[in-house]
Amino acid sequence: MPSTAAVRTGTVILDHELLELVSGLVCILRDGNVMFLNQAGIKMLGLTEATSAIDTPFVDFVESDYRFLVEAGWDLLAEEEFLPLKLHRTDGTLFEAEIRVRKIPSPDEMFMVEARDISKFVRSAEALREREERLQGVLASVAEGIITVNEQGLIESANPAVDRMFGHGAGKLIGKHIGVMMAETLRDDHNDRLVQYLGGAGKLMGRSVESMGRRQDGSIFPMEISVTELRHGKMRLFTGILRDISERKENEDRIKRLAHHDNLTGLPNRNLLNDRINHALARVRRHGGRMAVLYVDLDKFKPINDTLGHQAGDVVLREVAGRLTTCIRSSDTVSRVGGDEFVVVVEEINRPAEASMVARKIIDSLAVPVFYNEHPCTIGASIGIAIFPDDGNSMEDVCKAADVAMYRVKHSGRNAFCFYSENTEKTEIDFDGTLD
Ligand code: GH3
Ligand code: MG
Repeated sequence: MPSTAAVRTGTVILDHELLELVSGLVCILRDGNVMFLNQAGIKMLGLTEATSAIDTPFVDFVESDYRFLVEAGWDLLAEEEFLPLKLHRTDGTLFEAEIRVRKIPSPDEMFMVEARDISKFVRSAEALREREERLQGVLASVAEGIITVNEQGLIESANPAVDRMFGHGAGKLIGKHIGVMMAETLRDDHNDRLVQYLGGAGKLMGRSVESMGRRQDGSIFPMEISVTELRHGKMRLFTGILRDISERKENEDRIKRLAHHDNLTGLPNRNLLNDRINHALARVRRHGGRMAVLYVDLDKFKPINDTLGHQAGDVVLREVAGRLTTCIRSSDTVSRVGGDEFVVVVEEINRPAEASMVARKIIDSLAVPVFYNEHPCTIGASIGIAIFPDDGNSMEDVCKAADVAMYRVKHSGRNAFCFYSENTEKTEIDFDGTLD
């Protein structure tokens, strides 16, 4: 057949030389059997010459899973624009093809089939899809939220972690402004930063910054954001990596609390006390005035442990901490510095009498017994008071002076307070609350 100049189809004559110019397979079928196959088709089907295909039903070249299409009738196939299917080569291998069937005007049942080998295209589409699936898999499995935002601040994509973190349904954030993910108080700040950055002035990129996120239910949580810029043609996109740092923040706060607070009573410990005293000293040095340090040691505390147990002692220490706190102003500090030892810093006093008022209040507040399992625990306190700058020029000196004064109270009978004095002869101890 290829040797003749034309394929006679009845009413039309197809010039096979023209059909040879087509780069894909061209095949003329009569009653479903091949009556012409061009050179490109011969090559595509792995034949050596057209004659071996002549009179062969075309369906023989179609992979079995796709034969039903052909069996539905060539008329039906001719109505389709393009059809993907798999074809056999003569060596048994398969390839992906896209075929186009057209009816030839003829009294006979004649069709022209064109086919293109689309294996490469299918392979690269599959590779692309696999890559996309892998990427989606990675995006779905990462704990960090990943969003892309356009120059208008509108969210273009968000991975499942973002949905989990912010509680919006899957895909619900798409098209919304990034502001919906921010705490209201920070929205303007974020907008300003974006505007600044777009204007070329901001330093938004590449750094991790801490911020506050807003969940769908309105609750706020601490998050860390790092933003990178992505050029998409002329457009700029921003990729934000978001981490919920609630747990980290809680741990940091706990560690900070542990480092600065006493575990049993929750009062500031010696570290925080030193900080507070240093700040208070700096203020007094700058602005003048005085401050007082009160060294408080409970009287006869040990017997509570010895008779009722350590737990009872703990309950008493906690209760004492609460009572001491009620005796001071919010600007003052009470801290636990040892077993039954507390230090109170009274800031900005005008006269020493203001410190003695606090000491008296403390003694009065401890006069009421603390009950442990219905056992009344009677305690008292010996309090030594030192004044800055009168009794020392540094934190150490003033604390030492208050400690010395406290021991004087202990040696003189306890449950009282006294001011530090270099001259022990002159020490006045207030046992009945009349000293001023
Ligand atoms: P003084 O009147 O001379 O101050 O004697 P005291 O009985 O109060 O005893 P002291 O101040 O010498 O010693 C304090 C005791 O507090 C020693 C220790 O057994 C006890 N203690 C120290 N830390 C804790 C604690 O965390 N819990 C309890 N329950 N007891 C503690
Ligand atoms: Mg004691």
